Amino acid sequence: MKTKYWPEKGPGLDREAMREASGILRRGGVVAFPTETVYGLGADGLSPRAVRMIYEAKGRPADNPLILHLAGPEQLEWVAADVSARTRLLVRTFWPGPLTLVLPKKDRVPSEVTAGLDTVAVRMPDHPLALALIGQTGTPLAAPSANRSGYPSPTTAAHVLHDLDGRIDGILDGGPCRIGLESTILDVTREVPVILRPGAVTREALEQVLGAVAQDPGLDGYLRPDGPGTPRAPGLKYQHYAPEARVCLLSGTSEEMAGYVRERMRDADFLRENEPVGLLLTAETEQALRETQGDMNFGYVRVLGSRGRLPEIGERLYDELRRCDLEGVRTVFAEAYPVQGVGAALMNRLTKASGQAPVELKKELKRELKKELKEN
Ligand code: AMP
Ligand code: MG
Repeated sequence: MKTKYWPEKGPGLDREAMREASGILRRGGVVAFPTETVYGLGADGLSPRAVRMIYEAKGRPADNPLILHLAGPEQLEWVAADVSARTRLLVRTFWPGPLTLVLPKKDRVPSEVTAGLDTVAVRMPDHPLALALIGQTGTPLAAPSANRSGYPSPTTAAHVLHDLDGRIDGILDGGPCRIGLESTILDVTREVPVILRPGAVTREALEQVLGAVAQDPGLDGYLRPDGPGTPRAPGLKYQHYAPEARVCLLSGTSEEMAGYVRERMRDADFLRENEPVGLLLTAETEQALRETQGDMNFGYVRVLGSRGRLPEIGERLYDELRRCDLEGVRTVFAEAYPVQGVGAALMNRLTKASGQAPVELKKELKRELKKELKEN
């Protein structure tokens, strides 16, 4: 299949591109498009055949449901069986934006979209191209992230083409995504709404509007000190967001991190098994590294942003993970973040990309110290 590419056309809409892309979607094709979170791979969300094409193009397991994208709150009636006052309040507060709501579904929503569940996930994206495309197609668009299943989500058109060129009908380029992390998913079918996936609409922001908000117990996964080490919630069983490189998460102060990395990069056994090494760090940690050992080669070093500005780190995370693969990096040391605000979303993605608990550097340094004392 030849993938049609529609380049970015500055401000304003490329009407010809919109006409062609929506035509392809109405005929049952699949087209990738930008949203404020990540690029989506869209198909007519009311056509079982079109939706199956999404699963095929991505190599996505059939039991992982999709999100329906709407052009406005009034389209909720198309797909949701019951729209409560609480849902309306959330929609008024957060739409258009990175908040997906899980609601009771109408019969017309195909089971291919919901993977057989009696609920449907819906959101209204905050991106002019996405809204125009949905509006002009005249149907909700089922759209998971436009990446090969399991790999980090795409935040540029180049990422989409890297993964899916030749497997989809077309891609609308809208430049890099503003947020860079997938939407927050909130299940509002329960008495106390439950966060199923953290995102840029934070738990703290939801609590301001709703009062109590719960969190899926499976989300703790590797993050709780006494955690089981394995995520338990359904849908979390698949590897996600993971580059080819092994991701090793480091949790500690910038100084502890600099110390740990310095030791590793001096250890011949470690280097034999892990080089080339990539480092995804905050500006603070990179500075700590340079201050202690400015002339040392630390591998492929990338600064994601400042510890005080986590949304910026979210915007760049997937692009930087993908770059590590393009550079041939074998092991990535990635800095861990506090699980608050957007940090919860960052750590959710990073722990899944890693598949392991973060290395707690305070404990690690104590262990090494003890070992040294014993040896001497
Ligand atoms: P993606 O579109 O790749 O960001 O993934 C969509 C995610 O939404 C899935 O992995 C599910 O975890 C979640 N999801 C979609 N529909 C439902 C639903 N009806 N109930 C619970 N979770 C859902
Ligand atoms: Mg995805």
